[in-house]
Amino acid sequence: MRTVITGGAGFIGSHLCDYLIEKGHEVICIDNLLTGKAENIVHLIGNSQFRFIKHNVSDYMYVDGHVDNVLHFASPASPLDYLEFPIQTLKVGSLGTLNSLGLAKAKKARFLLASTSEVYGDPQVHPQREDYWGHVNPIGPRGVYDEAKRFAEAMTMAYHRYHQVDTRIVRIFNTYGPRMRMKDGRALPNFMHQALKGEHITVFGNGSQTRSFCYVSDLVDGIYRLLVSHEHDPVNIGNPEEITVLQLAKEILAITESKSKIIFHPLPVDDPRIRQPDISKAKKVLCWEPKVSRNDGLHKTLTYFKDALQGLNDNPGDKENKENCVSIH
Ligand code: UDP
Repeated sequence: MRTVITGGAGFIGSHLCDYLIEKGHEVICIDNLLTGKAENIVHLIGNSQFRFIKHNVSDYMYVDGHVDNVLHFASPASPLDYLEFPIQTLKVGSLGTLNSLGLAKAKKARFLLASTSEVYGDPQVHPQREDYWGHVNPIGPRGVYDEAKRFAEAMTMAYHRYHQVDTRIVRIFNTYGPRMRMKDGRALPNFMHQALKGEHITVFGNGSQTRSFCYVSDLVDGIYRLLVSHEHDPVNIGNPEEITVLQLAKEILAITESKSKIIFHPLPVDDPRIRQPDISKAKKVLCWEPKVSRNDGLHKTLTYFKDALQGLNDNPGDKENKENCVSIH
């Protein structure tokens, strides 16, 4: 199997690279390192099954030889990122998806789109099932991500229906684990970083909004099952255990044994009040459900964050790794 992963240097993309290499795939990782990090894939440099191409997939993409799968994971994906890079987010969701689908069509490859629970917006149906059409503000600050992903889903279905491309769509709910950037603005890494540094824990609103957090190895297992299935309609992959953001902050304070204080900041515009995946379809069609408890997942993530903080203190190796990585195409 020869598999292209766009966004392969990102948090989820890099775990997919590892997983597929382990399964024997040859992986071509394409990433412009806008929000991805060379250090996520630097351990794969030199592996004969792995190739890295630094490229923006919103521009035309050329890959030589045959390709069996194209997995489109390139996109800024945290609220802070897509507020900082709104146009890039819209471009990679639209033009990047078009180019990735074009590559899959030309190579007669399977195509898998990384979509998101953000297509449901601030949902009025709870938990969210795949047949819910969502409640999205197209012109709000989150619209650049939400609408780009909705467009990407429409484009994927069009290529499936009109060009017979063998497509899959995964709707990814909140995911966490090693390789998340500590300061990407998301609640979980923010809280962990703040707790470890003894800084205030910044809960937005009153913390009563809910999310459901899936550990990254569960997510990757679900994505692989979807890839090898014959399901063309979207499938939710996420952990249905729902908690409030305030509860998450308290759990993180407990496991880090931190003395940080929780403080409250204003709720961002269009912040979804509730989110929980209905995973009946994934259970039925993919025989998938998450296995890692939040307690285990948080501890594994904490170990990574502690090491990363240590690493950052010892040696600013990120820049060096990036240069090594970029020079080996
Ligand atoms: N949040 C928070 N404090 C932070 C960062 C985020 O309270 O420092 C809140 C955010 O407003 C949202 C929830 O935590 O209600 C989850 O946010 P995240 O950015 O992790 O992902 P989202 O699910 O909103 O895309």
